[in-house]
Amino acid sequence: MDRNTSERQQVYAWGRLQPRAHVIVPAAFADEMVAAIRASDKRPLLCRGLGRSYGDVALNGGGYLLDTARADHFLTADWETGVVRAEAGLSFDALLRVCVPRGWFLPVTPGTKFVTLGGAVANDVHGKNQESAGTIGCHVRRIGLARSTGEMLDLSVDSPLFAATVGGLGLTGVIVWVELKLLPIRSATMDVETLAMARLDDFFRLSAESADWPYTVAWVDSLARGPSLGRGLFMRGRHADAGALTPHGRKQIAVPHVARHLLNRGTIALFNYFYRTRPWATGRGTMHYEPFFYPLDSLSDWNRLYGRRGFFQHQSVVPMKNAPETLRSLLELSAEGGEPSFLTVLKVLGDRPSPGLLSFPKSGVTLALDLANRGDGTRRLLDRMTDVVVAAAGRLYPAKDATMSGEAFRAGYPQWRQLEEQRDPALMSDFWRRVAADAA
Ligand SMILES: Cc1cc2nc3c(=O)[nH]c(=O)nc-3n(C[C@H](O)[C@H](O)[C@H](O)COP(=O)(O)OP(=O)(O)OC[C@H]3O[C@@H](n4cnc5c(N)ncnc54)[C@H](O)[C@@H]3O)c2cc1C
Repeated sequence: MDRNTSERQQVYAWGRLQPRAHVIVPAAFADEMVAAIRASDKRPLLCRGLGRSYGDVALNGGGYLLDTARADHFLTADWETGVVRAEAGLSFDALLRVCVPRGWFLPVTPGTKFVTLGGAVANDVHGKNQESAGTIGCHVRRIGLARSTGEMLDLSVDSPLFAATVGGLGLTGVIVWVELKLLPIRSATMDVETLAMARLDDFFRLSAESADWPYTVAWVDSLARGPSLGRGLFMRGRHADAGALTPHGRKQIAVPHVARHLLNRGTIALFNYFYRTRPWATGRGTMHYEPFFYPLDSLSDWNRLYGRRGFFQHQSVVPMKNAPETLRSLLELSAEGGEPSFLTVLKVLGDRPSPGLLSFPKSGVTLALDLANRGDGTRRLLDRMTDVVVAAAGRLYPAKDATMSGEAFRAGYPQWRQLEEQRDPALMSDFWRRVAADAA
């Protein structure tokens, strides 16, 4: 593979803020991933999965980007025990198509199935069952990691490099394959209950009352203020005991490129009102796992709805003791900020430890909200929100972040220096340059 002949390509992150020029190195098989890091030269390399990280953790402007998404082959699968080993480019979408008919499900899944195994491990993703199941790293048995020294390592959970690689932001080496233990299910159907939240206190009450429901999440109407702050819907679910084991197959609707963002105060107010008050908004029922876990996946490229300037996502976690006051401040700040958030989500995170050195989840409450990019004003708002989070002993999620300062990152992740020590010198990302490189 001669990298010098490859053309530079402009690559966006999911937030579509600003494209950055990269030399793309494609890999279709494990050995090509290994070869790519062995051939590393002066220009740094970074892996990319399906590019679902919002900010710059999967960008390496001016450097090489190893496109892993076609290295997506199963290596071994034991359908008696639910242990599968596959190349890191395998997507959760493809994995579900194979494992659901056999009675297995992902032990942890984020809110989109369009992520790769490698990307999910590198950000140590969490899902609606974080309180009971922890992060994806809790279910990874072994990792195949290629280093620029030429080594091909088979990492088990007790290895320090395993801990650094889970949530290691793609910096410890190229994850070539992942071995994962799946969750047994009897049905592709979910039992689901949705309850109205009139105010923020209801979120805390319903979270405490939902110990029997492994999956919980709350949607918040970002336009509600004053006594109604925190108004929204609380959703909880569990895998049903019986039903067909049919994987998803919904068609995706494509979103065209739009110059102006379509998610403004007027459209969001209308959406929030109908979403919250439609007659079937609350109650108990069943649904396929697809709309329960992946409501946004039916719209391909929904990130284009924010128009040419793109958007930011703020996702933070703060300890439970500081959560009521901090969430109130964050929701008020974003409601006052001019442009409301289209999607605002709250979830309690539990204390099941992750094996990852730099994993985002910790015990407390996480808030995620999207903000259209309106330039300096939006950045100032995000900075103020970051200050509130850091003052409350919280931290931001690197997979979502595009703006936090190095100080804010290092305050939230004091173990960052250990990751820097384990970082493969051939690897670098724009995120790491922004938050760590100058302090290393
Ligand atoms: C709609 C939506 C909902 C989401 N919901 C959640 C959620 O509920 N919980 C959650 O935790 N996250 C969530 N996310 C974020 C998403 O799960 C993560 O950003 C995930 O890491 C993306 O995976 P990817 O394959 O697209 O990786 P990319 O975004 O392409 O890369 C992510 C990181 O992984 C590294 N990487 C990728 N492949 C490899 C490899 N083979 N070896 C080494 N490093 C590698 C990259 O260098 C980068 O640092 C959501 C994202 C979207 C768009």
